[in-house]
Amino acid sequence: MFDFVWKIPIVAIYTAIYELTPLRVPVLWWTLPLMLLAQDFFYYWSHRGHHVIRVLWACHVVHHSSEKFNLTTALRQPWTTLTVWPFYVPLIALGVHPAALAFCSSANLVYQFWIHTERIDRMPRWFEFVFNTPSHHRVHHASQGGYLDRNFGGILIVWDRLFGSFVPEVTRPVYGLTKNINTFNPIKVATHEYVAIVKDVKAASGWRERTGRVFRGPGWQPASAPAPSTATTAATTTAAPTTAEETTAA
Ligand SMILES: [Zn+2]
Ligand SMILES: [Zn+2]
Repeated sequence: MFDFVWKIPIVAIYTAIYELTPLRVPVLWWTLPLMLLAQDFFYYWSHRGHHVIRVLWACHVVHHSSEKFNLTTALRQPWTTLTVWPFYVPLIALGVHPAALAFCSSANLVYQFWIHTERIDRMPRWFEFVFNTPSHHRVHHASQGGYLDRNFGGILIVWDRLFGSFVPEVTRPVYGLTKNINTFNPIKVATHEYVAIVKDVKAASGWRERTGRVFRGPGWQPASAPAPSTATTAATTTAAPTTAEETTAA
């Protein structure tokens, strides 16, 4: 329902951009795989952005808040797509029809359903090299230090190999957040990180810290600052966990 409401302005923006661009990508048998490939590329950057920018993480955290890892985890989708759409603007500007983008996004989401399982150990080597698999995605949902903010790919894992975010599954993953929220209340699951951001921004001592609390990594701390008033519950690349207690995350 919320999702539907958010989509109205997004469709309007996409349509406006599509009308303005002189470029057109026709939907043909050979352009469709290219569009899927391009959508997967921008999915990678959107997903990575949603892990390393805290205000985006506040949305994506829903997908990572489960301490279990199974097919129902795949269905834990954020309640707002408001933060995803800017990442696909280049595709629309290149002349991809908004409906074609919607189709590719759906295909990507459907692909990702089956990788949320512990029942499949490894796929054939060539498949593991090219595609996102249960093994790769278990790492993405794990909270151990070396597994944090890794394997962002949607359908293909080659993006992670290309852009330095790939880590193979070696030790058994521990699922959940670095600091788990211990609630099944769906409202709290969906909003807790936004609430934490507001608290941290209120407690911040200047504009540099305020913007950092919103736009830097989820675990970002200003240099030589006191501990934040609220707990960050997130995975982060900027502040890798150092204690054993903290190493339990998304
Ligand atoms: Zn993620
Ligand atoms: Zn997932």
